[in-house]
Amino acid sequence: MARKFFVGGNFKMNGSLSSIKEIVNNLNNATLDATVEVVVAPPALYLLQVREALRSGIEVAAQNVFDKPNGAYTGEISVEQLKDSKIHWTILGHSERRTILRESDEIVASKTKYATENGVSVIWCCGESLEEREAGRTVEVVTRQLEALKAKISDWSRIVIAYEPIWAIGTGKVATTEQAQEVHKAIRGWLTGVSAKVADETRILYGGSVNEKNCGELSKQPDIDGFLVGGASLKPAFIDIVNCLQ
Ligand code: PEP
Repeated sequence: MARKFFVGGNFKMNGSLSSIKEIVNNLNNATLDATVEVVVAPPALYLLQVREALRSGIEVAAQNVFDKPNGAYTGEISVEQLKDSKIHWTILGHSERRTILRESDEIVASKTKYATENGVSVIWCCGESLEEREAGRTVEVVTRQLEALKAKISDWSRIVIAYEPIWAIGTGKVATTEQAQEVHKAIRGWLTGVSAKVADETRILYGGSVNEKNCGELSKQPDIDGFLVGGASLKPAFIDIVNCLQ
């Protein structure tokens, strides 16, 4: 099965009412490759603004969601609230949440289970630190993260995997095409242990300093099915990244 190329934009904790309005206007006016699935993830405060202003065909994602139904969980937002707001995607397990907010593999897996079982699709992030890469532990770390996910979920159809080496996020140090393809291939191989269908159908995105210059080469790798873009998603360059297959 041909996997639909996917480009996600993670605004992180950036933007204002006016700058996000400008990003939305740019996207609404752009000619985007219709074969590419595009999902943008503004900060929670701006989700509704973006969903209401963005043209149809471009989806919106939260950057995080809780693993419980509505209730006494101060500061969290629920899957039910996302769906009520016509937000059908969320990022989960971004390295900034795993490291700064101390989200464990199990917490990320539990959130992914709750979201996917309740109708919200997940851009599920994984990746190793520089220290882990230098110790030759990249595949071991990513496999550990995947195993924790597999322990909790059985339906993979609402999951897009984003491989994001931590040392490449926001640093300008993009993984080489070979480094990225090597890990993507290992992830695809691991997915065959779930099932041949899951391995064939699951999109594996690369994230880490993707820009309009490096996206073309990366996109040619057989196991790279798209990108999760941070810094460049706030810039007009995001449109070039979406159109990188052309
Ligand atoms: C990200 O935040 O997911 C990311 C990949 O960031 P950047 O593109 O800025 O490295």
